[in-house]
Amino acid sequence: MLDVAIIGGGICGLTTAIALERRGTEPRIYEAATEYRPVGAGILLHTNAMLVFDRLGLADRIRDAGVALDGGEIRSPAGRVLKRLDLSGVERAAFGHGYVAIHRAALQRVLLDALETEVQTGMACTAVESTAPLIATLADGTTIEPDVLVGADGIDSTVREAIVPGVSRRRLESVVYRAVVSVDLSPPYRSRGFQCWGVGTYTGGAPIDTGRVYWFGTAPEPLTPESADPAAKLAAIREHFGGYPEPIPSIVAALEPGDVFRSGLADVPRLERWRRGSVVLAGDAAHALLPFGGQGAAQGIEDAIVLAHELTAHDEPAAAFDSYEGTRKPRADRVHDEARRMGWLATRQSSLGARVRNLGVRVLPRRLFDRIRRRRFAETPLPKATRAE
Ligand SMILES: Cc1cc2nc3c(=O)[nH]c(=O)nc-3n(C[C@H](O)[C@H](O)[C@H](O)COP(=O)(O)OP(=O)(O)OC[C@H]3O[C@@H](n4cnc5c(N)ncnc54)[C@H](O)[C@@H]3O)c2cc1C
Repeated sequence: MLDVAIIGGGICGLTTAIALERRGTEPRIYEAATEYRPVGAGILLHTNAMLVFDRLGLADRIRDAGVALDGGEIRSPAGRVLKRLDLSGVERAAFGHGYVAIHRAALQRVLLDALETEVQTGMACTAVESTAPLIATLADGTTIEPDVLVGADGIDSTVREAIVPGVSRRRLESVVYRAVVSVDLSPPYRSRGFQCWGVGTYTGGAPIDTGRVYWFGTAPEPLTPESADPAAKLAAIREHFGGYPEPIPSIVAALEPGDVFRSGLADVPRLERWRRGSVVLAGDAAHALLPFGGQGAAQGIEDAIVLAHELTAHDEPAAAFDSYEGTRKPRADRVHDEARRMGWLATRQSSLGARVRNLGVRVLPRRLFDRIRRRRFAETPLPKATRAE
C-alpha cells in the first residue's frame, strides 16, 4: 500500500484523507495546530463541492449540519435587486445539488467524524529537506520518509517552498470582517444567501443553521485601529454597514463585541507547477484564491478527490501527479483568474466605477448567467466511483 503523508488537516487535507481511505489507502495526517478550535465563520459550499461530497457519501450529513439554500440575490446599496440566483432552476435541476451554507466548525466536525485515521495534531512540518528521495522534518525534530507527501498546508504553505520557492501572499487593499450571529431573520432570509455590492464594500451572508447567520463585509481599510476597544470597533462596524439594505442592518445590530474578527484579503500568484519529486500540492497551498466567487475551498475539495483517485489508479506517483496536475491545474488557474477579476470589481472605490459595475451585473442576460454556472459545475472532475463510494 502506498505510504501517503498529508501535511495540513484543513478542509482539503481532511477531504483528501477521506477520499484515500475510500480507496483503501490509510494516509498519515500531520496538523500544525495543537487542537481543532471552533472557527467563528461560515462557508458557502457551491454545487461542485457538494458533488464531490456526494461521491464521498457526505452530502446528506453536510446538508443536515448546514442550510441548503433556495437561492440568493445581489443588491445595490439602494436595495435594488441586480441579480437573483434560483438554485432550483439550474444547479438542482441539472446536478442535483444547490449550495449549502454551513458553520466552518460544523463542516470540520463532519469531516473528522468521517475519517478513520486520527489526525496527528501539534505536528507542523518545518521543512521538506529533499523531494527525491523524500525527507521531511516535523516540529518535534523527527523526520518522515513516506512514498508521497501532499502539501495541503494552506496559503502560507511550508511544503510549497520545496516546489516553487519564494512564493508569498499577494495582498488586496481591503480587509474583511466576519462573524457568526444569532439573529432571527425575516422568512425569505432563513433559506437564502444575500450580497450587496457597494462602493469599496462588498457585504453579505447566509443562514448556517436555525437562528444563526454567517455575515461578512469588506472595507477598503480597517474601520478602527487594532488597539480600539471592542465597543468602539463594534460601533464603527454598525456605522459602516448599517445603511445597507436588509438583512445587513438587522445582522450588524445583533452583533456582540466578541463576535467579529477581521482579516486581510490575499491570494498567491498562479504557480508554474504543483509537484516536484514525490511531493505534490493541493488546496490553498497550490492555488489560494481571493474569496470573491466562493470557490476557494471548493477547488481544494476537487483536488482532494482527483488526487486520491490518481494516487490509487497509478503504480508510480509521477504518473499520478501528471494526471492530477493535468486535470486540476488548468481549471484551478481559470477560477483563480476569475476570483481576481471579481475581487477587482467587488472592491471598486469610485462611485462611478461601482455604478457601472452594478449596471453590468443587472443587464447581464439571464441566459448567459445560467450558462456560466452550468458550465462551472458541469466541469467538476469526478473520477470513477469506487465500491466504497
Ligand atoms: C474571507 C474568506 C471567505 C471565504 N469564503 C469561502 C466560501 O464561502 N466558499 C469557499 O469554497 N471558500 C471560501 N474561502 C476559501 C477557503 O476558506 C479556503 O480556500 C480553504 O479553507 C482552504 O482549505 P485548505 O485546507 O487548502 O487550507 P487551510 O484551511 O488553510 O488549512 C491548512 C491547514 O494546514 C495547517 N498547517 C499550516 N501549516 C502547516 C504546517 N507547516 N504543518 C502542518 N500543518 C500546517 C493549518 O493549521 C490548517 O489546519 C474563503 C476564504 C476567506 C479568506
